[in-house]
Amino acid sequence: MRHEHARPAHCRGPQVLLINHFKALKLPTLAREYEKVGADYAREGIDYPRYLLRLCELERIDRERRMMERRIRAAKFPVTKSFDSFDFTAAPGLNKALVLELARCEWVTQRENVIALGPSGVGKTHTALALGLAACQKGFSVTFTTAAALVHELIEARDEKRLRALQKQLALVKLLIVDELGYVPFTAVGAELLFEVFSRRYEHGATLVTSNLPFDEWTSVLGSERLTGALLDRLTHHVHILEMNGDSYRLATSKQRQKKTGISDHVLTKGAATT
Ligand code: ADP
Ligand code: MG
Repeated sequence: MRHEHARPAHCRGPQVLLINHFKALKLPTLAREYEKVGADYAREGIDYPRYLLRLCELERIDRERRMMERRIRAAKFPVTKSFDSFDFTAAPGLNKALVLELARCEWVTQRENVIALGPSGVGKTHTALALGLAACQKGFSVTFTTAAALVHELIEARDEKRLRALQKQLALVKLLIVDELGYVPFTAVGAELLFEVFSRRYEHGATLVTSNLPFDEWTSVLGSERLTGALLDRLTHHVHILEMNGDSYRLATSKQRQKKTGISDHVLTKGAATT
């Protein structure tokens, strides 16, 4: 670079123009790399088609990475987690083969659903986040939310007369992840709005739901038996169910910590019950 800057300004003219063109054509990697790769390839006597090929490859790799990062930001994951940090031996009840198959995202293409069921702390959210991340990496748009936040958002949108726009947005995303269905019961209106989201997505987009409640208790959060039946009917038509009935990973790890720090068992058990 120092060598380039040492050149008289009129010799840099074409380079300045070239960089302008690259930027206007949205080819930032070309703008950044063309000179260095050119110098390397010239030194090694590599021909122009291969030079251009290399630059195009670099631009496409970078573009794919930028788009993936954009999809991950758009998904609004509360944290990013992957299966790299998931210990399958700590989740013995979980069908590992099925989870790894789901991580290939064929079910997202097929607009199927996944429901992860199990008590608190068994890794439902972790699994949902990891499947969401895998979908982003495979090129799908993803939205991550909790059932309570989604219902809140729907009611707010309805009050502000922008429900249609939100419903459309929720219907279009390739994978909608609704975490924690079951902790907070909904009002009748809230349940209706949530039902409509699932209903619109039925056979149009993939949906992942996690719940601490078995199906026969879903009425307790949705209120109406009729609505629960209709919702489950749609959600479970094309579904992969992940039964996660192991011990709480949170509790297990805090018990390990407790052994080291000497906190009483009573406090931890009480604490875990509220999370
Ligand atoms: P749930 O959503 O079922 O209540 P989480 O997915 O939030 O449980 O898990 C609780 C915590 O334990 C999280 O920090 C999560 O990353 C971790 N965790 C749970 N199961 C596992 C596992 N099998 N391997 C690694 N970490 C796990
Ligand atoms: Mg959770």
